Amino acid sequence: MALSFIGGLHIRGRKDARRSEIEKMPSPSVVTIPLSLNSEPAVSVGDAVLRGQLIGFAGGGRSYPTHSSVSGTVTAIKEKTTPNGEAEKYIVIQSDGLDAISPDVQPQTKRISEMTTDEMIDIIFRAGIVGMGGGGYPTAQKVRAALGKATRLIINGIECEPYLTSNHRVMLENSAAIINGTKILMKVLGIRQGEIAIADNKLDAANALERLAAGSELIKIRIFKTKYPQGAERQIINALTGKEIHVDKYPHDAGFVVFNVETCVAVYNAFAHGMPLIERVITVSGDCIKEPKNVMVPIGTSYAALIDFCGGFSKKPKRIICGGPMMGVTQWDLQTSVTKTTTGVLAFSEEMESRYNNPPVCIRCGRCIRVCPMHLMPNYIAMFTVRGDYINADKHGALSCIECGSCAYICPGQVPLVANIRTAKTRILQKRKAGRKSDGMSDGNAVQ
Ligand code: SF4
Ligand code: SF4
Repeated sequence: MALSFIGGLHIRGRKDARRSEIEKMPSPSVVTIPLSLNSEPAVSVGDAVLRGQLIGFAGGGRSYPTHSSVSGTVTAIKEKTTPNGEAEKYIVIQSDGLDAISPDVQPQTKRISEMTTDEMIDIIFRAGIVGMGGGGYPTAQKVRAALGKATRLIINGIECEPYLTSNHRVMLENSAAIINGTKILMKVLGIRQGEIAIADNKLDAANALERLAAGSELIKIRIFKTKYPQGAERQIINALTGKEIHVDKYPHDAGFVVFNVETCVAVYNAFAHGMPLIERVITVSGDCIKEPKNVMVPIGTSYAALIDFCGGFSKKPKRIICGGPMMGVTQWDLQTSVTKTTTGVLAFSEEMESRYNNPPVCIRCGRCIRVCPMHLMPNYIAMFTVRGDYINADKHGALSCIECGSCAYICPGQVPLVANIRTAKTRILQKRKAGRKSDGMSDGNAVQ
């Protein structure tokens, strides 16, 4: 029987691009590649660069190295300030259209069985790999944190967001890399069995992986119910074990470590080909896209160039979303570039968006409470947030919210629940950081 968790939603999948094989997009004329926070450029304006060449050094914290996704010339190094006040740097590269590969890109000569754990983690770090399901946490750090704690490795191919089909296509078309990437991650983590998590609306992918893993006790395929947000790490673990992980704990505290299927492929590419993370598969879909597709895209490609590659717009879009419609972020500028964590680019018309045009009102139906996978009361948290009462928003578990969007989706009153809860989380965390006792947060016990 398919595994599941309590709560969640059955959403119409609208996976229009599921039968579209991955198409490799030619290098665009210009890429704008973001460096991770705290990173410094490894190149200067005017430098010639090659595909796979290091262009950004990792700094401290959660930073990671960045590499060029095209060959060409560095034309600018830009900086902009994020809403958190942090400086983000971008390297702009004019492509020469040759896609010449850097001589630094070389497969590992040492056998994996002869490598130490540190050597393996270093390969993952130097390839600049991050969580490609949208999380963006550096994979080398995640591996290191899980060492000695995690006993179960999950490769996550559930992809429960509507419209998104890139993971599905990767599982169908790159099954061998997933199996080999899983084995590499098992070796580095010292875990004896890997499990690949797939929803029961992708049984063709499950069969493809099962065929490759057949007879092996090392890799098991686990089938989950098609439900939202089954692809969230905590909901996978809950479905497998029945356990809830407290908001202050990590999956490895419960003995698990979870990686997205594309992250797993990136790990394989780093070991087998020496290729750092410079491109990824993205679903381009929505009712305004002429030809919904799954596209292998160089990091740094603009949304405008990507949408052009998919035939352009069939009608005027009202909203462009980076990611899925449930957890994605609205984008206002088509010059925004694809990053390592962009899972999808969706374009929706006015008709698709019309449900958001009415004024919000809570009719106290309780549906948001029934669907919340974290067993919260989203309506109350939102209400306290609107009142500026962050103590009570905190007491009602605002920080446990995984921002899955199920409550807002189901709400007949169109209450912007997730937006309100995000505000509450930001305010609570700001106050924790500042350690101040003011502005309605004077109850120090409430903010722990
Ligand atoms: S689902 Fe919407 S209308 Fe119903 S209780 Fe929750 S916030 Fe109120
Ligand atoms: S409160 Fe948070 S976790 Fe619960 S349904 Fe809403 S967005 Fe998801």
